[in-house]
Amino acid sequence: MHCPFCKHDDSRVVDSRSSEDGTSIRRRRQCPECGRRFTTVESAQLLVVKRSGATEPFSRDKVVGGVRKACQGRPVTEGQLAVLAQRVEDVLRAAGSAEIAAHEVGLAILVPLRELDEVAYLRFASVYRAFESLEDFEAEILMLRAERERA
Ligand SMILES: [Zn+2]
Repeated sequence: MHCPFCKHDDSRVVDSRSSEDGTSIRRRRQCPECGRRFTTVESAQLLVVKRSGATEPFSRDKVVGGVRKACQGRPVTEGQLAVLAQRVEDVLRAAGSAEIAAHEVGLAILVPLRELDEVAYLRFASVYRAFESLEDFEAEILMLRAERERA
């Protein structure tokens, strides 16, 4: 979500509440760059299209459930999982489409999960990106190392 003041391409949700009829969500956001706050209103309708062609409403709880499995034994809190699910929803909504393929949800999880916990990320990525061999893991780990050195 772009900041309307300085056009910074990221923002932090500081408060979020559903409208009375439950069809939209109003969010207070703060820009990490200029510190100003603004409000966005987003339609609650976001559908996930499964491989079978069936659709179901996007659910942050489902995202948390999937990621929680990959985080077993890792120092990741429920609060962090909730923030991650919110970020995933933000990314998907920012894409502007009311329908998203289920695998897009998986891909949208990868970036914030990598920032949260690299081991959990590798577990999750090995499933969603169908790692088939040790070389796939190796390539991914090399990439993580390179990114870490750049940071
Ligand atoms: Zn700003």
